[in-house]
Amino acid sequence: MINVAIDGPAGAGKSTIAKAAAKKLGFIYVDTGALYRAIALNAVRNDALGDEDKLNEMLKTTDVSLDFDENGTQCVILNGEDVSSLIRTPEISMGASKVSSVPAVRAFLLDLQRNIAKNNNVIMDGRDIGSVVLPNADVKIFLFASPECRAERRYKELVEKGENVTYEDVLADVNQRDYQDSHREIAPMKPCEDSVMADTTGNTLEQSIDMIVNIIKGDK
Ligand code: C5P
Repeated sequence: MINVAIDGPAGAGKSTIAKAAAKKLGFIYVDTGALYRAIALNAVRNDALGDEDKLNEMLKTTDVSLDFDENGTQCVILNGEDVSSLIRTPEISMGASKVSSVPAVRAFLLDLQRNIAKNNNVIMDGRDIGSVVLPNADVKIFLFASPECRAERRYKELVEKGENVTYEDVLADVNQRDYQDSHREIAPMKPCEDSVMADTTGNTLEQSIDMIVNIIKGDK
């Protein structure tokens, strides 16, 4: 099996780029952020977001899995419910960043991610895929862009979806999530020694997709 790990901060275009690259290569694209988002949604529903004991208790009755349809599109199933769209809100983005610093949450999701990679050619995106989940990945990519560029992209996405947000708020969220994700004690977001650094600042989507496909094909 060929395993590609793509890590990097929120809004660098990881999911869109990785999904398109996976399609070109015939690989499955796995968005691991969705798993943390599903845990965050369950935590909000159980009033457990800021409470580690409650979170640990909640995990005992939490079932999260990923389904892939015939087009390879990922659905996230939380306790039998397809929550794929419910997890795409700013509240759940921030909640995911919070729950992701809890060791029990990371441990809970580890085998699920590894099992998918064991049985499929995958491009898996997240924060700790190259460092923790798939340390033996064939290719590791750290995809990034300037915070302003990332906030601009995320802002446009949210406005298109009808969310009532300002650019300043989105930039503040991007900076706060970067800080939380790279300063947590467990599995902080950082490039590995063997990561290929890919900067998408100022790129068109097509340019970024080509860049990633070329890296994966070894044609750097
Ligand atoms: O990638 P996405 O924005 O959907 O991720 C939501 C949050 O989940 C991130 O801010 C991060 O805190 C967490 N996450 C993580 N490890 C991963 C993927 C996501 O900690 N592999």
